[in-house]
Amino acid sequence: MEISGPRGTHDILPDESALWYYIETNLRQMAELYGYSEVRLPIFEHTELFERGVGDSTDIVQKEMYTFEDRGKRSLTLRPEGTASCARAFIEHKVYNQAQPTKWYYIGPMFRYDRPQAGRYRQFHQFGVEAFGSQDPNVDAEVIAILVRIVEKLGIKNAELHLNTVGCPDCRPLYRERLLQYLTPFAGELCNDCQQRLNKNPLRVLDCKTTHCREVVKDHPTLHSYLCERCGQHFEQVKSMLSSYKVDFVLDSQLVRGLDYYTRTAFELLIPDLGAQAAVGGGGRYDGLIEECGGPPTPGIGFAMGLERLLLAARKQASQAWKIPPVMEVFVAVADKEYDRDACLLLDRIRQAGIKADKDYLDRSLKAQMKYAGKNEARLVVVIGEDEIKNDCYILRDMKAKEQQDVPSSQIIDRIKSILVTS
Ligand code: AMP
Repeated sequence: MEISGPRGTHDILPDESALWYYIETNLRQMAELYGYSEVRLPIFEHTELFERGVGDSTDIVQKEMYTFEDRGKRSLTLRPEGTASCARAFIEHKVYNQAQPTKWYYIGPMFRYDRPQAGRYRQFHQFGVEAFGSQDPNVDAEVIAILVRIVEKLGIKNAELHLNTVGCPDCRPLYRERLLQYLTPFAGELCNDCQQRLNKNPLRVLDCKTTHCREVVKDHPTLHSYLCERCGQHFEQVKSMLSSYKVDFVLDSQLVRGLDYYTRTAFELLIPDLGAQAAVGGGGRYDGLIEECGGPPTPGIGFAMGLERLLLAARKQASQAWKIPPVMEVFVAVADKEYDRDACLLLDRIRQAGIKADKDYLDRSLKAQMKYAGKNEARLVVVIGEDEIKNDCYILRDMKAKEQQDVPSSQIIDRIKSILVTS
């Protein structure tokens, strides 16, 4: 019986993993440019962490977690996102006692039991950054700038940054009451999920994606006129900094996160080309999260972006322009099988010099070897034949320039290097 991969998972085969490697290298470089260091955290955590850190009224916790009991009867969950684990590690290792801010990034698989479709998987990958320990609005602007600059650097156009503020526990309750007053007369028209949200978490009704709920909330009161002075100033500073960075944004009063530990800035980056799953990344400030997870009061802000969606967008628009390194730089071909041992030894010299090289292992003819080298985009082919062995030299063919030259064995590595440097 043939066994296929579980629904909602996908294999990344070598053709594609080159693109992944390229994207991941760019993500790491970008995060490090801004002073963020990598954390590597477990793929599973105690279920309670996500109930508290993501919020037990959220769709993720209510419907989407891969939760299981291990052999010791503990309830564990495959991580559905990265922020809760970062908060846990920040508290567990008392990182709050070190000089702040703490700037971390992570990259890796996440798991959500959701209905799979283009751009939505059950195992997917996120890259995220978290900055703990500072309330400075310039940190908000920095975090948002990273998200935008990544997409720009990968050559993806038309990304749209949506920005909002969700206030703080001082100013939000008044707004919550006002919103509830507005929504209550429409209660019967809302979708089932929103009817539940209405009491637990009315701000989240604003974020519902169903057409009818969107219609209902069209004229909702906005939080902006209820903001306390400090939240108002914070938002002004974030917007002003983003404008100075020439990062365009759209104010979007429906972009919300309903839980108490989310504060102030909320943002999302959309790539309309992606259709129904247009959100490529999103995040916000969560000044109450570390406390919620059992740590000392510590402000924080971060975002997570989905790599599958980033890749989809890149594939539609930009990936041809990326410089993906070829699998091999040099191919060593033999005119006859009897020079195979010489080919292996030369290959070893080339590889030891730090150059990606390979040879034939299927007894192909010389012509077929050249074709194989071309298919693998090898820039150079070294040919070993009878004359070459006799004269202790090789034919070095530049596949791009379509030229070849005889090179003495003692000079072959230097000659290869000098051509590769200029390519
Ligand atoms: P979230 O943690 O829900 O704010 O998601 C952050 C980003 O992760 C989204 O903007 C998506 O790009 C990506 N993402 C979330 N859920 C999925 C999924 N099921 N499949 C693929 N990507 C996802």
